[in-house]
Amino acid sequence: MENSIITQAEKTKKIRSAFIVKNKQFITPHLIRVVFEIDKNQAELLANVRSGSNNKIFIPAEEESTPLVRTYTNRKIDLENRELSIDFVAHGDNGPASAWALKASPGDVLEVAMKESTRPLIPDADLYLIAGDATALPVICAIAEQLPSYVRAKIILEVADKEDELILCSAADISVEWLHNPHPEGGSRLAEAVKSVQFPPVDLKKYVYIAAEYTTVDELRTYFKTTLQWDPCAIYACSYWRAGQSEGKSSEST
Ligand SMILES: Cc1cc2nc3c(=O)[nH]c(=O)nc-3n(C[C@H](O)[C@H](O)[C@H](O)COP(=O)(O)OP(=O)(O)OC[C@H]3O[C@@H](n4cnc5c(N)ncnc54)[C@H](O)[C@@H]3O)c2cc1C
Repeated sequence: MENSIITQAEKTKKIRSAFIVKNKQFITPHLIRVVFEIDKNQAELLANVRSGSNNKIFIPAEEESTPLVRTYTNRKIDLENRELSIDFVAHGDNGPASAWALKASPGDVLEVAMKESTRPLIPDADLYLIAGDATALPVICAIAEQLPSYVRAKIILEVADKEDELILCSAADISVEWLHNPHPEGGSRLAEAVKSVQFPPVDLKKYVYIAAEYTTVDELRTYFKTTLQWDPCAIYACSYWRAGQSEGKSSEST
């Protein structure tokens, strides 16, 4: 593809390419799956990009010359069917990415950048505690799909409503708990639910993975690091968005 760029920085290949929307559907009332075509050249570029990895999307801005950049997840890279799926939380047209997904239709073009990596989405452990809100559903579904059969995972997910729940597929022994929160910008009970989890008193290698709104992530990072004194190597806590702030602004202030 002519407008694809690959840069080799040490061992990390960066890919940026324009993808064409093939189809779009609401997979739940608040989650829009946009499926992009992967052409032959893009298929070669994406050969070593893992489903569930992050990307940057470049939303064309009507009044500005530079596009607006947002971070999303490559929910699925299906090279056999030449499809790239990205799941967008439909939180209204107050955010350019959500608004773009609401309006997207077949034939639309979106530039997406990502890094090549064969690294697993989550490090090795025996027992996982994985928690996230609707924005982390794509990565957590991908993690569940990639966990091996011999591990256990307790997964806590917060979505707007019962109809927003998804079926998670995994070879691992997973248990999924759902919380419902129609207004996540007004606060969340996710941190409380995570803190109430009791770990078995046996000597297992544990790992906690948290991706959600800033306040929840901040509270849980402090809880595992400071209150429980967990090894920082056993904690991933990433703020996926910040209530009342657009992505550019929230990453400037965190
Ligand atoms: C590594 C990573 C991976 C991510 N993957 C995904 C993904 O696969 N799918 C996905 O939907 N999101 C994902 N996100 C979150 C997404 O980047 C943010 O929600 C982003 O703010 C959306 O951009 P926007 O242009 O729609 O809204 P912005 O312009 O960033 O924000 C506008 C307003 O909308 C509010 N807002 C933003 N997101 C939400 C929300 N989810 N619910 C309610 N209000 C909101 C903001 O607080 C702000 O007031 C990911 C974030 C990170 C860091």
